[in-house]
Amino acid sequence: MAEFDLVVLGGGSGGYASALRASQLGMNVVLIEQDKLGGTCLHRGCIPTKALLHAGEVADSARHAGEFGVKAEFISMDMLAVNAYKDGVISKLHKGLQGLVKSRNITYVEGHGKLVSKNTVEVNGVQYTGKNVVLATGSYPKTLPGLEIDGVQIITSEQAMSMDRVPSSVIVLGGGVIGCEFASVWHSFGSDVTIIEGLPRLVALEDESSSKQLERAFRKRGIKFETGTKFASATKSANGVTVTLENGSTFTAEVLLVAVGRGPVSANIGYDEQGITMDRGYVIVDEKCRTNVPGIWAVGDLIPTLQLAHVGFAEGILVAEEIAGLNPRPINYDGVPRVTYSEPEVASVGLTTAVAKERGHDVVELTYDLAGNGKANILKTAGSVKLVAQKNGPVLGIHMVGSRVGELLAEAQLIFNWEAEASDVAALIHAHPTLSEAVGEAHLALAGKPLHAHG
Ligand SMILES: Cc1cc2nc3c(=O)[nH]c(=O)nc-3n(C[C@H](O)[C@H](O)[C@H](O)COP(=O)(O)OP(=O)(O)OC[C@H]3O[C@@H](n4cnc5c(N)ncnc54)[C@H](O)[C@@H]3O)c2cc1C
Repeated sequence: MAEFDLVVLGGGSGGYASALRASQLGMNVVLIEQDKLGGTCLHRGCIPTKALLHAGEVADSARHAGEFGVKAEFISMDMLAVNAYKDGVISKLHKGLQGLVKSRNITYVEGHGKLVSKNTVEVNGVQYTGKNVVLATGSYPKTLPGLEIDGVQIITSEQAMSMDRVPSSVIVLGGGVIGCEFASVWHSFGSDVTIIEGLPRLVALEDESSSKQLERAFRKRGIKFETGTKFASATKSANGVTVTLENGSTFTAEVLLVAVGRGPVSANIGYDEQGITMDRGYVIVDEKCRTNVPGIWAVGDLIPTLQLAHVGFAEGILVAEEIAGLNPRPINYDGVPRVTYSEPEVASVGLTTAVAKERGHDVVELTYDLAGNGKANILKTAGSVKLVAQKNGPVLGIHMVGSRVGELLAEAQLIFNWEAEASDVAALIHAHPTLSEAVGEAHLALAGKPLHAHG
């Protein structure tokens, strides 16, 4: 038996962040991973999808080069080369992360771990005991009852990530973040794409105005979608997959991507046996990520908070600092920046108008159209920056749509998390011509002194 200050089960974003911070704080740490260090985000999530999206952006640039006076031609995608580019990015980051873990003197154990007591994880017959244990076993792609993933015609994001060809047509089941990102990628690659979403709008967790703008942009690009109608069944044939909806309409495509959400990885690894409180497989924690069992903590996609890599990082760090006695502030989940990296991007922080009203705020709104922004015109992108604010008070939410607006969250999240008022931001000078000016202009307008806006 090996003894540690901290045993971390799962080497994804949440687990490795916890291990890195704990070792920095002087703890003796073991990190257990059954697959590859870096987890979903690095190998099957954030990084590969963003590489594919970038390849799609390059394809679209070639297609539209003439609009910028450049003679170029889009011929076709070379998926072998796309995958080599994507895998190259992953491999470099993977090596870097392995080096980092090594340099922090973290004991790295490869293998499937099981919680065999309240302070011990067993891997291949060896027991690792810790004063504290962090559970960070992540999530898996879910499907619907009766919808079997065969990995060829009916796939999840796991297979979609490394296809060796561009399918001629795709049905994307689920119009959330992952569904919209893949719809965007495949359309850029040349597929005929239809999204099916049971809720009334795409990216339904975002402000309604953002969904409307994304839908308008997708329609303009030729990405089809059906919203507010539920999936009934799917049948396979030599021609592809036919999806029937509850309203009786049918759609056929070469491939069906199932992107209906992700569930926690928590079965058969000892969590139940140790009496950990769970709900629908999620491990339940308090505001410091403590489970009900003293000394056992849980972070990342395994707990019912936002399923984002940077949330996993923050929770992992929080736990390490709490164990070290630093008494860190709990995470304000409203203040987490969120991005859908489709073309156009959808980015937000803080409350939507609907949630702000539900919480009793006296809400004022301001929308600054990117049509008034020089850089947006140069890029030929459309969209807006929408502010939700407390009347005569702080900004409660910032919602943006347009190419590259994800980068504007760096400022938006400071505005929200530092509870700035429109007049505070209006006093700051934004560089011209940048997209960030749209954030400045929105606050100028809300503060009653619009520059490049009517009002
Ligand atoms: C297609 C896609 C795109 C995404 N894009 C983004 C994005 O752009 N931005 C963003 O912020 N988030 C994105 N995410 C979400 C992000 O990947 C996750 O929120 C993040 O990976 C969660 O980290 P985690 O540590 O909780 O879990 P994971 O990254 O899933 O890591 C859990 C690890 O635990 C290991 N494990 C599980 N059980 C055991 C066991 N019994 N023994 C040993 N090891 C075990 C697994 O092998 C895995 O490596 C995306 C996800 C997907 C699927």
